[in-house]
Amino acid sequence: MPSRSEVTYFSPGPAALPTEVVEAAAQALVNYKSTGIGLAEHSHRSALANDVLHVTKTRFRTLLDIPDDYEVLFMQGGGSGEFSAVVYNLVGVWVERRRRRLEREITTKNPEAAKDDVDAKVLEHLQGLVRSELKVDYIVTGSWSLKASQEAARLIGSEHVNVAVDARKAGDGKFIEIPDEETWQLTPSKKDGGTGAAYVYYCDNETVDGVEFPSSPKCLEQKNGGGDVGEEEDDERIVVADMSSNMLSRQVDVRKYSVIFAAAQKNVGCTGLTLVIVRKSLLPPATAAPSADLMRRLGLPVAPVILDYGVIAKNNSLYNTLSIFDVWVAGEVMGLLLASHGDKKVSGAEEVATAKANLLYDALEKHPDVYQIVPSKRVRSRMNLCFRVAHGDPDVEKQWLAGAEERGLLGLKGHRSVGGIRISNYNPIPLEGAQKLALYIEDFVSNEHKATAL
Ligand code: PMP
Repeated sequence: MPSRSEVTYFSPGPAALPTEVVEAAAQALVNYKSTGIGLAEHSHRSALANDVLHVTKTRFRTLLDIPDDYEVLFMQGGGSGEFSAVVYNLVGVWVERRRRRLEREITTKNPEAAKDDVDAKVLEHLQGLVRSELKVDYIVTGSWSLKASQEAARLIGSEHVNVAVDARKAGDGKFIEIPDEETWQLTPSKKDGGTGAAYVYYCDNETVDGVEFPSSPKCLEQKNGGGDVGEEEDDERIVVADMSSNMLSRQVDVRKYSVIFAAAQKNVGCTGLTLVIVRKSLLPPATAAPSADLMRRLGLPVAPVILDYGVIAKNNSLYNTLSIFDVWVAGEVMGLLLASHGDKKVSGAEEVATAKANLLYDALEKHPDVYQIVPSKRVRSRMNLCFRVAHGDPDVEKQWLAGAEERGLLGLKGHRSVGGIRISNYNPIPLEGAQKLALYIEDFVSNEHKATAL
């Protein structure tokens, strides 16, 4: 049985954690800060738990330079929970902003109108708007954004979901490309004679397919929280990004987004925690969630309370029992990043991640006859490196994986839906681990015996 130090674990998630964090976590589970009680046993409402929340939130804000007009939420339900939460919350914002505007317009025209009459008129108008204008845009560049778009269609109906891009069309049925922005069929904004989408959604790094946006999409950029697409607040372009598998691996200009989320179990911590960054203008008191009654009358889904961003924000992420242990692990990982990279913060982690990815891609590229990198070069991921060995010959790939395992290089099997090999190069993978793997990539080719098998 190997020890921790003898293996490098390239799993896509749950993924390797820094050993010092795991060791400290083992101690914290038994007796946290000499209280005689483990961290998973302490009340989530204790002062000690509050301190954990505060420390993790502060470190997260520092690492990513999260502006004050953004809230950080600790949620549960993972990335998939956010596929649903995004729909509930942002369709709610779309409804509420239009409800407010209609109410204003109707009462301005007729200040004497009774509240019931105003409400009835607002409802009638809104029902028409939902039918004629409600659209959510999805940029589908891989398996996870596809799933997110399917969840949106399940919740609000496919007639409201505009798949602005399906990258498979540019990739011969596979997710290997990000089509040029000029080809994206976004719902036209008011400025362009349309009505605009309730939000635009994309996945920054597609974990299964190894496709990563080289930088944030230019055509979605907004200045300081909207207002650039039209004059009214409800013309604002709301951009959502799933950063589950590249969070904390590169600098992000949070201001370009309305919502960013990440399941923690890859680059941030362990399973059970989901990080959400949301612009405060989308939350109460700036934007209240529409009433459940109104949503029902509009035929739209009502958010389960634990997925309601406003409720989670109001309760400092403690509406219900949150795993403080998971929040603490994330905080420790963030603390280590701050300690290792100092003022560079997350761009320090970015430099290391890019160096490791380059090392590995270089090793693969030297032998194109043996290794075939799946995504096109422009969009290949620094976090999940997907490739085939011997054009996907199952026996050779099995042999490759077995040889890697013999050297303590684990977790390299590609996702079951696409096969092949996937190297997940998250922050805790040490440079020496990447070097060992690069060496194996070379050795596999030069090994006479194995080469003849190719
Ligand atoms: N988004 C991305 C990019 C992912 O990689 C994953 C999970 N691997 C998810 C969403 C779904 O996350 P979860 O399993 O936590 O629901």
